[in-house]
Amino acid sequence: MSSDRGESVMQESGVPVRSRGVMLVLSSPSGAGKSTISRALLERDPHLSMSVSVTTRSPRPGEVDGVHYFFRGIPEVQAMVEQGEMLEHARVFDNYYGTPRQPVEDALRTGRDVLFDIDWQGTQQLAQNAREDLVSVFILPPSLEELERRLRGRAQDPEEVVRKRMSKASDEMSHWPEYDYVVINVDIEESIQAVQAILRAERLKRNRQMGLAQFVNGMRTDG
Ligand code: 5GP
Repeated sequence: MSSDRGESVMQESGVPVRSRGVMLVLSSPSGAGKSTISRALLERDPHLSMSVSVTTRSPRPGEVDGVHYFFRGIPEVQAMVEQGEMLEHARVFDNYYGTPRQPVEDALRTGRDVLFDIDWQGTQQLAQNAREDLVSVFILPPSLEELERRLRGRAQDPEEVVRKRMSKASDEMSHWPEYDYVVINVDIEESIQAVQAILRAERLKRNRQMGLAQFVNGMRTDG
C-alpha cells in the first residue's frame, strides 16, 4: 500500500493504515525546556524526525553542523530563500533561520512525522502554507523568574545575550494564543508525556489516516 501521498504506516496497535505525517511544531522562549522535550521525543519515537534548520548564527560549543543546524553564511541563506528552498524563514535576534523544504516534504509523503523547533514567525508561515499538516505546541515556563534561572544555569551564552533573550521572552510568550496546544513546563517528564499524548491523538485524526476507507472495506471483503 503506497501512493504519492503516503506509505503504509502502522498504528500503535500494529494495524497498517496509510497516513500522512504530522508537522509538530514546538515553540517557546529559549530556556523554557523545548530542546530537552524535543530530544526526548526523538529518542522515544522512531516515527519522528527532526527538521534541521539553516542558521546564520555561529555554532555554540558542542553543536555540530548538519545535526543541530546547518550553519551557513547570509548569502547562502538568502539564495535558498530566493530559490524557494525554504518552507519558512525568519530573523530571530540578530540572525536568520529557515527550514529547508525538501526533507520535510519527503518525510511527510512517506508518513513520517517531523518535529520543528522554530519561533512564532515561522509557525505563522507554516500555518498559512501547511495548515492541514500542522500541529503547534507552545511551551511556557512556570514563571519569568524560573526562565531566567534556567537561562543562567545553562551558562552557554554571554551575560549580554541572556539579558537580550530575557527581554525578548515576554514578546515571544505573547504569541501563545496562536498555538493549538499550550504546555506549562513545570515538570520535564510530565511535559514530555503531554507532547507525546498530543502527537498520539493527532496521528489518530480521521483525516490523517488516508487509508481508513480501504482498511474498513478490506475488513468487509475479508469477513
Ligand atoms: P537558538 O539560536 O537558541 O538555537 O534559536 C533561537 C530561536 O530561533 C529559537 O526560538 C528557535 O526556535 C528559533 N529557530 C530555530 N530554527 C528556526 C527556523 O528554522 N525557523 C524559525 N522561524 N525559527 C527558528
